[in-house]
Amino acid sequence: MASKQIQIPLLTWRRLVGDLTARGAGTRETGAFLMGKQGDEGRAVLDFLCYDDLDRRALTHGIVEFHRGGFSKLWDICKDRGLQVLADVHTHPTLDVRQSYTDKVNPMLPVRGHVALILPRYGVTSRWSLAPAGIYRFAGRGRWDTFLADAADCPVKLSLW
Ligand SMILES: [Zn+2]
Repeated sequence: MASKQIQIPLLTWRRLVGDLTARGAGTRETGAFLMGKQGDEGRAVLDFLCYDDLDRRALTHGIVEFHRGGFSKLWDICKDRGLQVLADVHTHPTLDVRQSYTDKVNPMLPVRGHVALILPRYGVTSRWSLAPAGIYRFAGRGRWDTFLADAADCPVKLSLW
């Protein structure tokens, strides 16, 4: 079952990458959930929430570790605002945006079709394109599909609006 493409408005993406870069300060991995609504035309990202705003302990060891308490906060915010989690994004230290073992075995949302993005260099990367990012979609049972940003079947794309 192919899920509909997730559209990220370019301005939201620029704000997100800038925010993760600032929070990472060139020294630690950071991440965020992308939230939005499911419509007939597809899925549009309307906002994001950074892990360390949801769970202050999320980033203490320099690797992204998100705790249960953060999730209940996340679900409350989504419910209040009528939003769904559409994807997550986190940063890696180097240009290597392949998933780590931990990334593979611990999807932030263990739901088939969930999309995970990885940004290189603690987020110091293009704010205009998804090309430098690792793009993965959870296929269930520890398996992930990998996509290139410009592929026709890529599950996520930047939109002008
Ligand atoms: Zn990772």
